[in-house]
Amino acid sequence: MILQSGNLYNQILCSNMKFSEYSSDMRKVVLINILLIISGTILLLFAIYNVFVHSDNALFIIDFTAFLITIYIFYDLRKSHNVQRASNITTSSIFIMMLAIVYFGKGHDFTLVWTVFFPMFAIFINGTTKGLGITILFYALTFLLTYQGIDKWQGGMWNEASYARFVVASVGISIIVYFFEVSFDKAYKMLEEIRKKEKQYIQTLEQCSITDPLTRVYNRRHLTVQFDKLFEKAKKHNSYFALYIFDIDYFKQYNDTFGHIAGDNALQKVTQTLTKEVFKRDVDHLFRLGGEEFCGLILADEPQKVEYILEKARTTIESLGLEHPKNPHKVLTASFGVCVIHDFKEKDFDKMYKIADDTLYDAKEKGRNCIVGADKISTL
Ligand code: GH3
Ligand code: MG
Ligand code: MG
Repeated sequence: MILQSGNLYNQILCSNMKFSEYSSDMRKVVLINILLIISGTILLLFAIYNVFVHSDNALFIIDFTAFLITIYIFYDLRKSHNVQRASNITTSSIFIMMLAIVYFGKGHDFTLVWTVFFPMFAIFINGTTKGLGITILFYALTFLLTYQGIDKWQGGMWNEASYARFVVASVGISIIVYFFEVSFDKAYKMLEEIRKKEKQYIQTLEQCSITDPLTRVYNRRHLTVQFDKLFEKAKKHNSYFALYIFDIDYFKQYNDTFGHIAGDNALQKVTQTLTKEVFKRDVDHLFRLGGEEFCGLILADEPQKVEYILEKARTTIESLGLEHPKNPHKVLTASFGVCVIHDFKEKDFDKMYKIADDTLYDAKEKGRNCIVGADKISTL
């Protein structure tokens, strides 16, 4: 879930914090804010009641101090986004406040009922282990205080049976909350695992969608993306920018002579060797256009470098020495057509592609196993 700023939920309950997806911090922040708003309102009302109606100054001071603390935590969390600090102050305040209610309330007017919220706050805000520890400490003290009140509190009405009911209910609710949180944690961890796997699948799918399955070089789909990127890079560095196409010579005859599987192997050998020995920089990618035709992009600080790199690629293919009786060179070769630009006014993939394709045709006409176009700077 992506929460937009300006949204009321995010503004108030998420303390204007940005959560790109569900996190345990987000749940804590929402819970702390709900707690602060509800308890702040109740505390203020109690403070007013205690001072004006009940005329109990001690309770008024407790309520009003607690009210000020809630306001402080609310604003501090919005300002510092320090969830840990807010969790600690909230938990300590509730801990002290509830114990004060138990101690001063002495079971009168149903005051002990407020303690049922303690395990929820402690465990939801602090997590299972720490929350359970705090809950145990809280109830150890509460049970001690309430035990001492037996036959004394509520004019003697607070007896052993009331105490036993209180203990059983408190322990019961703590166990329920604890195991609810444990199961929630487990479910969340499982969900996270699934999400992680989904991300990996998406990554694999994305990689597959731009990779040629036979040669493992990029496919045409990725060519235009990379073209845009490298065009901008060349423009920024005022480099020479070349788009070349190469095509294996007499490949139909190669297949006819050795079969399609051998043809496939030859394509793999050519691309693997070129990426390992010639096009090895981060920006040097090969793209399979289809069949035995490939394309690539070169960034060079001097125009002669384009020719140098492609000449290296041409001789590397020839030097593989893949036997090809129907090729006049008796080995597998390729022809290259290139379009080099040094003027970045117009970004036009189609025009560069057309020029490279035309020069490739010229290379075939010239007798193959050669490069045409590398010595000319084209304007689009
Ligand atoms: P040229 O020198 O003029 O390029 O001649 P060519 O025979 O290489 O070109 P042509 O277009 O006549 O034939 C291309 C051949 O490439 C036809 C097809 O059998 C082969 N080919 C295309 N894709 C694949 C492939 O994925 N695997 C194999 N083994 N062969 C392929
Ligand atoms: Mg060919
Ligand atoms: Mg071809």
